[in-house]
Amino acid sequence: MSDHSYRCEPSEPFAHEVLNPATEEVVATVPATSAAEVAEAVARAARAQTAWAALAPGDRARLLRRFAAVIDDHLEQLARLEVLEAGHPIGNARWEAGNARDLFDYAAGGVERLAGSQIPVAGGLNVTFHEPLGVVAVIAPWNFPMPIACWGAAPALAAGNAVLLKPAETTPLTAIRLARLALEAGLPEGLFQVLPGAGPVTGAALVEHPGVAKVVFTGSTAVGKQVLAKGSAQLKRVTLELGGKSPNIVFADADLERAAAAAPGSFLDNSGQDCCARSRILVQREVYDRFLQLLEPAVTAWRVGDPADPETQMGPLISAAQRERVRSYVPDGAPVVIRGEAPEGKGFWYPATVLEGRPGDPAATEEIFGPVAVVLPFEDEADAVRLANATDYGLSGSLWTRDVGRAIRVSRAVAAGNLSVNSHSSVRYWTPFGGFKQSGIGRELGPDALTAFTETKNVFISTEENRP
Ligand code: NAD
Repeated sequence: MSDHSYRCEPSEPFAHEVLNPATEEVVATVPATSAAEVAEAVARAARAQTAWAALAPGDRARLLRRFAAVIDDHLEQLARLEVLEAGHPIGNARWEAGNARDLFDYAAGGVERLAGSQIPVAGGLNVTFHEPLGVVAVIAPWNFPMPIACWGAAPALAAGNAVLLKPAETTPLTAIRLARLALEAGLPEGLFQVLPGAGPVTGAALVEHPGVAKVVFTGSTAVGKQVLAKGSAQLKRVTLELGGKSPNIVFADADLERAAAAAPGSFLDNSGQDCCARSRILVQREVYDRFLQLLEPAVTAWRVGDPADPETQMGPLISAAQRERVRSYVPDGAPVVIRGEAPEGKGFWYPATVLEGRPGDPAATEEIFGPVAVVLPFEDEADAVRLANATDYGLSGSLWTRDVGRAIRVSRAVAAGNLSVNSHSSVRYWTPFGGFKQSGIGRELGPDALTAFTETKNVFISTEENRP
């Protein structure tokens, strides 16, 4: 490893080994942050934040733009780190590093536009300000380590906050690298710190620390609920981006060839470890068989293998534990209708799999977070909406139809935060993103991203004449 590796001294009691999921080799050992170290980091962040918030908006924007430029200078290095620790195909990893850069560029553009309002009142002037919250904790998952860390960090910093980023145990390397690049770009010491460590120790310490004003948590619904419950003791601001079991609804009037060609990417990208994976394929009964005939070659043609090869479309799963979890949804005798191939030997590989959806089967209702989808028939529009909404989740969804009225009706009827019609559009940093129901609370990204990291303050200034 080059300068991004970190080896612990034997005296350091807590450390995490980072594995390459494609080879199972240890690629780095990273120290874990104790609760006491979290408290020290919060104090440093609070000092840095006071000075940062007092900087002229133009200067804050300039520093964030410089950070984006430094990320851009290190795109390949960051992408290679993502391949190494997360097993993402290099093409995807390059996109992810570019996304981190774009997030800081976009947020920098918001600093000088974070305007309050002037509201007409009698006897004075009434204005509002968007005040920064203070210290913000960003707790990130392992599935898209770089983009998701920056979804929170970039707008939080732009709005005048300090950020403490806790990456997932399995994928801390890009986060550690980003924090060093921030210093290189001239961001003040202490303003953007990365605190690797175990969720129940480092993550929990951040959630419980009274000096942390807001927690942005992306991860499982189970842990998200704990974060919300613990944070509520201090009325802490919380944004939760949680799990999903999103539908891909294919109507009989759709361009079936196009819908079938696009379906594999919607649940195989990132080996299905995607909160927006369209892992429930709902197909109108009269075209069900035809659609499966078209889907089969599209799924089996998906290129699985060495993530460093630019031709690869799908790498391994993140860990042995994740592979066990995915396997548990496809027991012997499971109703497999399509199966791809995966490499044998070292690495946490799992083949693309499509199952026939059966009532009561956990594979049809629970988030699998692997390259596994279920396919289910539906009768008509009402039945499609009923099935799409028959889940506790509500993150994303897609629908395929040539009928514009239906596209709008169904988009409005599906209880999810992010819908796409005749596409599986991915998350864009300039449009809002977040979940309905148990997929989350709050929104990230989009034009209002910065205000989610502020409190609105109202100030009334009397214009009455002062008496001598
Ligand atoms: P996870 O909930 O296990 O962990 C997420 C993060 O929380 C990690 O950094 C972990 O260390 C930390 N954590 C664990 N326990 C904690 C605790 N008690 N207190 C504070 N922090 C704690 O999730 P994961 O397995 O890393 O990620 C997969 C999940 O993330 C999936 O369910 C997926 O759907 C979800 N996800 C959601 C979105 C979204 O935007 N909605 C995006 C990506 C992933």
